[in-house]
Amino acid sequence: TVAVVLFTADLRLHDHPPLHAAVRAADEVVPLFVRDPGVHAAGFDVPNRRAFLADCLTDLDERLRHRGGRLVVRTGAVDREVPAVAAECGATEVHMAAAVTGYAQRREQRLREALAAPGVTLHVHDAVTTAVAPGAVTPAGSGTDHYAVFTPYFRRWSQLSLREPLPPPRTVRVPDASRGEAPSSATDVDATSPGLPEGGETAGRALYARWWSGDLSGYEDQHNDLAGDATSRLSPYLHFGALSPLELVQRARAHGGPGAEAFVRQLCWRDFHHQVLAARPDAATVDYRTRHDHWRGEDDAAEDIATWRDGRTGYPVVDAGMRQLRHEGWMHNRTRLLTACFLTKTLYVDWRIGARHFLDLLVDGDVVNNQLNWQWVAGTGTDTRPHRVLNPVVQGKRFDPRGTYVRRWVPELADVEGRLVHEPWRLPGETRAGLGYPEPLIDLADGLTRFKRARGRD
Ligand code: FAD
Repeated sequence: TVAVVLFTADLRLHDHPPLHAAVRAADEVVPLFVRDPGVHAAGFDVPNRRAFLADCLTDLDERLRHRGGRLVVRTGAVDREVPAVAAECGATEVHMAAAVTGYAQRREQRLREALAAPGVTLHVHDAVTTAVAPGAVTPAGSGTDHYAVFTPYFRRWSQLSLREPLPPPRTVRVPDASRGEAPSSATDVDATSPGLPEGGETAGRALYARWWSGDLSGYEDQHNDLAGDATSRLSPYLHFGALSPLELVQRARAHGGPGAEAFVRQLCWRDFHHQVLAARPDAATVDYRTRHDHWRGEDDAAEDIATWRDGRTGYPVVDAGMRQLRHEGWMHNRTRLLTACFLTKTLYVDWRIGARHFLDLLVDGDVVNNQLNWQWVAGTGTDTRPHRVLNPVVQGKRFDPRGTYVRRWVPELADVEGRLVHEPWRLPGETRAGLGYPEPLIDLADGLTRFKRARGRD
């Protein structure tokens, strides 16, 4: 027998239930990835992620070849390409992981219908993009289908015993009839960020092993330290499924200690957001909890938005974050919070505009985590203190006390000594003029007054 394994957001061989099941059930397996023009049309196929995806596919193909197989890549609608490949190879079953986003769920449904006519069985395995599948835990007796607050979710989630991660298959036998395109290379992609990481399961596992072998005990204290850069940077590998979140959770739990626990908590945030969006797919674009109607948009805040995007707001830690994003396609979580807060609460610009810019550049850009974190910051989402406003000067001094992060990303301020690097407007006028660094775009107090007024009105 022949089985097709459809890879989607799970571009790895370790801990891959659909592949594991197919290799056991069938004599030959067709590992298939379909480039979906719908993802391109929806604007999610941006250069940074396209390059990272190309690395992931090339790596997956190589890893399969080491096991006697190869990856078949096709371009087209999933509900057309998968049945076509199944027919060409005489496959009687298709294995894939459950879809999570609304778009992927609709695609899965269309595929199910398309496979029904030729009598090909579709096996949908538990979602492997999260450690715990969305909907696996729900608030007891509340009548709702998902948790809207992180802490109680984390408590329940922590009590679950998870299955052991699955090993990669030793051999994968692919039928000769399966034809596809060569996985393109990252170097074929233009306009990527210069500091983009290398994609793929091999690079992800190497990064993970390096990070893990470091002193994980510091993660708890240092994951907010901007200059220390002490976080794992595993997010793009998790986004493309080059690493298994379940495997990371299991390994961290086995490791133990406060650093490992803090890391597991961060991984739980991914699952938390996934279960929110699975239950409320509209939260990708619509205010989740509290609706606000008075945001400023492109029409009335075009210049402020452009200044924010360019990292020229005159607030050093905000500008440093925005420039890191452009250079690396990645930003530290603390500056994601600060830059998003500055846009939504100080400039009072619609969170969707900021989220779109992040999605254009982030290599880990992910509808689930991006949109729901933006909503959290904007106060429309799951934050239980929706009116908190982060002061970029206070936060800069706290999380970048020596100013090293700011000087790294804002070269105009490289020679400013001490903590004034977070408040260059306090330097003498002549020194300031020589820096070539902008004056603050807005007075923080004015921003706060507008925010309070707008929220009072909403
Ligand atoms: P680590 O600190 O090493 O954490 C380990 C893993 O936990 C991360 O790789 C990530 O998968 C997960 N994680 C950590 N924090 C969060 C969080 N708040 N929400 C969800 N998962 C989390 N993360 C994305 O993966 N994609 C996005 O598009 C994205 N957009 C964001 C937008 C905003 C406005 C904010 C405030 C946060 C966003 N995040 C997003 C969450 C977080 O900033 C990144 O996951 C994290 O910075 C990635 O770095 P790391 O891998 O070194 O994290």
